[in-house]
Amino acid sequence: MKYQEILQEIHEEIKPFKGEGQIATYIPELATVDPDKYGICLHCFDGQEYTLGDYEEKFSIQSISKVLTLSLAVSKIGERIWERVDVEPSGDPFNSLVQLEYEQGIPRNPLINSGAIVVADILVSILDDPKEDFLKFIRSICGNESINFNPKVAASEKATGFRNAALANMLKSFDNIKNDVDTVLDFYFHQCSLEMTCQELSRTFLLFANHGTQYGGTEQILPRRLGKRINAIMQTCGFYDEAGEFSFRVGLPGKSGVGGGIAAIYPQQYSVAVWSPRLNPKGNSVLGMKSLELLTTKTGYSIF
Ligand code: GLN
Repeated sequence: MKYQEILQEIHEEIKPFKGEGQIATYIPELATVDPDKYGICLHCFDGQEYTLGDYEEKFSIQSISKVLTLSLAVSKIGERIWERVDVEPSGDPFNSLVQLEYEQGIPRNPLINSGAIVVADILVSILDDPKEDFLKFIRSICGNESINFNPKVAASEKATGFRNAALANMLKSFDNIKNDVDTVLDFYFHQCSLEMTCQELSRTFLLFANHGTQYGGTEQILPRRLGKRINAIMQTCGFYDEAGEFSFRVGLPGKSGVGGGIAAIYPQQYSVAVWSPRLNPKGNSVLGMKSLELLTTKTGYSIF
């Protein structure tokens, strides 16, 4: 497959859509990013990497981190996790409160904010040094010691995170947060502030393309069964109330974040990460979605 040519073609074909969408500003620190950045990295199973644009620039991975915290939590407590968080698409925005009330504090899925806050609580309970241990986990999957939180972004989220605080308090009222609310939120704001490049993210997501085994290594980070479950959740819940649209247009398991990143996988073929900060009204990268749509169209690969 001529992936490099395909990436060049995609870069040409997305040009007409370049000014579309808005950068996230509700987290003030994210508003300081250049909205016209664009990077993509595709990492194939044969070890080849295809790259274009700002693929070596760090950005805030935001909600993409929810797949990584979920992976660490299921690798520690296995299927028991589903007692505290469901696996249904929500059809509501990522920071919605409405379903929590009538679903008795069980979030719809682990990839919306409420679900990720429950997963954060689980990690705070089981890890000795939660933030440090989470970083170690990501660094080992990615084989890169430079991966870190961005303290400015974490502080910015904390200063404006009223909705997340509301979600955490609501969850606590249903006894689905076991630790101190501020400690759990502190962990959550830090995981969202994680900075990675498209290259680092695509290497990390090879884990999900490879049934839970770290690519280039032999370590089975997630049992095969749980790796499959995480892919299923990405497919059905990875894009909040646009998960159907992403399945429809792209047809790959993936996850987006309000920093403008999207990571996706084609099992046993490749993982791909794309970054472009301008978002559509549902909080997903306009050019990111468009690029991946063109990628699956041009390669002819989709899990369907
Ligand atoms: N940190 C962001 C928030 O909690 C993550 C949202 C996202 O990327 N969709 O609002």
